[in-house]
Amino acid sequence: MARDPRYDILFQPVRIGPVTTKNRFYQVPHCTGMGHLRPHTLAAMRGIKAEGGWGVVCTEYNSIHPNSDDTPGVFATLWNDDDIRAHRLMTDAVHAHGGLAGAELWHGGARSPNNFTREVPMDVVSLPNLAGHPMQTRAMDKTDIRNLRHWHRKAALRARDAGFDIVYVYATHTYLLSNFLDPRVNTRSDEYGGSLENRTRLVRELIEETKAAIGDRCAVAVRFKADDTIGADGQPEFGERREMFALLAELPDLWDINIADYSLEMGVSRFTKEAALEPYMSWVKSVTTKPVVTVGRFTSPDTMVSQIRRGITDLIGAARPSIADPFLPRKIEEGRLEDIRECIGCNVCYSGDSLGVPIRCTQNPTMGEEWRKGWHPERMRPKGSDARVLIVGAGPAGLEAARAAGLRGYHVMLAEATRTLGGRVAREATLPGMSEYIRVRDYREQQLLKLPNVEIFRESRLTAQDIFDIAPDHVAIATGASWRRDRFDGKTYVPVATEGATIHTPDDIMDGRLPEGPVVLFDGDNYYLAGVLAERLRAAGLAVTYVTESDSVSDWAGNTSERWRIRTRLMEAGVAIVTAHALTRFDGESATLTCDYTGATRDIPARGAVLVTQRAQRDALYHEILDRVGGATDRLPFTLRRIGDCEAPAIIAAAVYAGHRYAEELDTTIDPDDPLRHDRPQVGAVLPAAPGAPAPGQGRAEPATAAGRDPAYLATLLRYYEEEVEGEAWFLALAERMPLPRQKEKLLLLAEVERRTAAAVRPLIDRYGLSPASDAVLAAKGRAEAAAAPQDWGQLIAGMIRTFPDYIPAFEALERMAPPADRPLLARMTAHERAAIAFLEHELRDDPDSTAPLLEFLFPPHPASRVA
Ligand code: ADP
Ligand code: SF4
Repeated sequence: MARDPRYDILFQPVRIGPVTTKNRFYQVPHCTGMGHLRPHTLAAMRGIKAEGGWGVVCTEYNSIHPNSDDTPGVFATLWNDDDIRAHRLMTDAVHAHGGLAGAELWHGGARSPNNFTREVPMDVVSLPNLAGHPMQTRAMDKTDIRNLRHWHRKAALRARDAGFDIVYVYATHTYLLSNFLDPRVNTRSDEYGGSLENRTRLVRELIEETKAAIGDRCAVAVRFKADDTIGADGQPEFGERREMFALLAELPDLWDINIADYSLEMGVSRFTKEAALEPYMSWVKSVTTKPVVTVGRFTSPDTMVSQIRRGITDLIGAARPSIADPFLPRKIEEGRLEDIRECIGCNVCYSGDSLGVPIRCTQNPTMGEEWRKGWHPERMRPKGSDARVLIVGAGPAGLEAARAAGLRGYHVMLAEATRTLGGRVAREATLPGMSEYIRVRDYREQQLLKLPNVEIFRESRLTAQDIFDIAPDHVAIATGASWRRDRFDGKTYVPVATEGATIHTPDDIMDGRLPEGPVVLFDGDNYYLAGVLAERLRAAGLAVTYVTESDSVSDWAGNTSERWRIRTRLMEAGVAIVTAHALTRFDGESATLTCDYTGATRDIPARGAVLVTQRAQRDALYHEILDRVGGATDRLPFTLRRIGDCEAPAIIAAAVYAGHRYAEELDTTIDPDDPLRHDRPQVGAVLPAAPGAPAPGQGRAEPATAAGRDPAYLATLLRYYEEEVEGEAWFLALAERMPLPRQKEKLLLLAEVERRTAAAVRPLIDRYGLSPASDAVLAAKGRAEAAAAPQDWGQLIAGMIRTFPDYIPAFEALERMAPPADRPLLARMTAHERAAIAFLEHELRDDPDSTAPLLEFLFPPHPASRVA
């Protein structure tokens, strides 16, 4: 379908200084837990967003110098020229799909503990560490300020050389620059403190110096908050922000605006709805002529259009919506709104950052798996056989397994015991503030309707006999888990009830069976549910005491940036809070609480007790099936797996992931010893000596030389390498000329394939000390040849399909000439030609998915996940 003309405005190009974004979809900088540690994982993930239509795709926070170190947070780095290569992986991936790449330069100031680099942290004045570490910063002197400017400039140059199109001055989120701006923090008496003009001086200098260094090629963006202090929810307190902004308003090429309250800006859906920043944006666009971007967990194209038409923002900024659905822009463009996978606002993505692990997403199980498992958010390998797949249970795990197996083309039967699909999400979404969680079910139910090969059987509680009678080829048991009525004491599960007292669980409350009050609610889960249930019980008029063994309420929810709000909500609702205590006994009249530290006990009056502790797998069906064959799975007439909470209860994101993984791995052989690609810093390069260290000693391996090598081999190698470099320029020049964005995109992909091929062979050029012509000379040659190429798309494709196949025997001949050690790299060269030819063949057939061979070459699936 074509896009609805109402949304045309979203696809208008926007000029940002010297660059132009093809549309208004802008992935603002967001953390990924990948940063400098996992460059390939990162590049593949960001590239897929560009493929999904995001006009701009930015990095996470990029430290400009070791003086800004957030370890164990996984940040990106622009510390030295090695970082350029790592970032190139991302910028190339973004450019290959016609997107602009943005880099956020960062100095953390008093938020950076520098525990890894052991540099003394610095900030505008001596501040305590703002992340809670027992240390203070030194107050920056003039040399520090000069150094900071110097480091920022060098990092900007590196960002440019890495291919970024937009480079940020990051002046918010309580990092160093925002402290210079803040009158309460900045108490300096020199020209960097005091008046508004003085406090904005450093930011002004950085904007001007960044523009002077790279402004001819890159746009300079500034991240800035619109309000001054955190006020009541949704009630901005602007203070002097407008005045401050006015001093800088026309300096950068783009303003990226956010707000003081991160828990609102990054709010979970329980507390914050779409477009929550709008009241804060009221004045911004009236004070600058430069384009403005802001966020608001936008998933509705109508809201997006309204934001632009009403002059709130020029670009639709998004982190989470782009994580939940990297293809959101394309779906709007193609009129496929029903396919949008809307973010549910759970902030599980953010927990990756908190925990220092690659990002995960509840709605998008492929997030973070693009490189290491070769998963794609929209495409899956076709089925590996004509097998029939039975999935039992339609919770998040079962629904996703059915969707994904259905997408692969399997004949899928999904059986659900109840009338309602969704399992736990259907139940939890009825609780206060949780309505958006139903999107986990709704997206999948909607997709299943489109798959004629998937049958859904509601009110079908299956028995083992039913399953043997259906006789499928594969069976996945996704029957979930039930909340327990006891608690885990650190070693074992122990009862709490005495005298036959009734214990309530979350299942009871979600089924409408409420206890009498006063109620003691014990949280052994430490995530969101106990807090939500406390609110539910208060809404029913019951007095509630929330008890946890942790020192804080909803401890794990600190990772999703909602702990603070949960506690505030409970306190405002009049819930009594007892931390560091276990609920150890309940007799129907009183509850005994035991202190975790001293063991002291105390009794409080309670007529009801709700335990939010652990869950018991609902795996009876799984075991019943196994019992029929005495536990010998090889005697079953089908493969049998349990997935999701039925296997091991965990968060919703884990169940969705389990369902997706099940479908990905059907008819696939995974090497259990090596199940995923491991991204880590490469150690093959010759590292520079440590400063002041003696020169490297003997014993270092000498680089291979050309001596003794077949001169014909070396000459051919050199010629083909040069042709790849020329080829990249040839395709880039053609891309510039093509009128249609889709044609441009295809040529950019081909250029990227050429560039990657040249990069793959480059180590051989270096190994033999060969001297290719300079990149500039080769690129000029490529461009000159492009001038002679046909203008017409059909003729261009036809011309390529005539000439490209000749390269295959030539490249194969080169492989045969090569010493065995060189062959794997040369095989890449042959493979790239095959990918290009496959693309051309698909293109000739007008296949809408013609670029698939190119994408497969650029982002190969993990060998272990290939169909066996
Ligand atoms: P998960 O989070 O792992 O997807 P849920 O508890 O959310 O698990 O969902 C499990 C689903 O399985 C529920 O909707 C439940 O009604 C359903 N179910 C449980 N037992 C059976 C059964 N024997 N046959 C069919 N469906 C079942
Ligand atoms: Fe949205 Fe949750 Fe996915 Fe984050 S993890 S993008 S909040 S659905």
